[in-house]
Amino acid sequence: MSMETRRPLLVHRDHRRTFAENVYVYAVVSRRSKGVSIGLNLNPDKVCNFDCVYCQVDRTTPGPVRDVDLPRLLDELEDMLELVTTGELFERERFRATPPELRRLNDIAFSGDGEPTTCPAFADVVRAVAVVKSRRGLGGVKLVLITNATMLHHPRVRAGLDVLEANQGEVWAKLEAGTEAYYRQIERTTVPFRRILTNITVAARAQPVVIQALFMRLHGEPPPAEELEAFCERLKEIGRAGGRIKLVQVYTVARVPAEAFVSPLQRAEVDAVVELVRRRTGLAAEPYYGPE
Ligand code: SF4
Repeated sequence: MSMETRRPLLVHRDHRRTFAENVYVYAVVSRRSKGVSIGLNLNPDKVCNFDCVYCQVDRTTPGPVRDVDLPRLLDELEDMLELVTTGELFERERFRATPPELRRLNDIAFSGDGEPTTCPAFADVVRAVAVVKSRRGLGGVKLVLITNATMLHHPRVRAGLDVLEANQGEVWAKLEAGTEAYYRQIERTTVPFRRILTNITVAARAQPVVIQALFMRLHGEPPPAEELEAFCERLKEIGRAGGRIKLVQVYTVARVPAEAFVSPLQRAEVDAVVELVRRRTGLAAEPYYGPE
């Protein structure tokens, strides 16, 4: 059993997006990345172009602000970088239990309480963060875009991706269906499934991507076997079209989902999906479990 598959320490479960008075910047300690990830919430308004049945963003209350205020975001980022790189972060109560080997900055992630690439300032934010990273000499720190891939074809998003690629950036794209019907059932969006597949393929041709796939029980039922087979087929199609996938992360529901009919898979079921992906596609795949 790898470090990542053990029951996480309390500090690792604390994924709250607010840090003191911050609007945009938060920190998460992750066994998976073996360090601290600084997250940038580019959707403080909590608006998303997906409506995933398992989403854990609390949309019963409005977000604190509507738009991204870039100077403020950068101030918060500079403060957070200071806290992490000086180690002061780990004197704070929430981070005191962080083991010494995880007290390192691993990445800066563009994420959000929605789809980060829908933020009109996305490319400007990526550019400005790349400048901060370079000025601070953080060459080994990755930039990660966590995305549902709906917007990757837009020129203004593409401009941000180009900056990412030039600055140790990675795209972590959501793909968790093999058919249009299941995709619509899970993501509840009007964006065609084909659009997602094409966008991921194009991004994966530019540089290797990580696929994030969350599978769950719906009304007590795990995903149909045919759906999982179709999911593997879509991964293979991306490869055949020249896309490179460096890793498939298989998740299940870990936090309170939007819908009561959604519940986590058991560990053995997550393992079985990982095995299937490895067998059918030959790709690297890793499991991430829900609560037990
Ligand atoms: S893409 Fe993310 S933020 Fe948007 S609905 Fe799905 S889980 Fe929630």
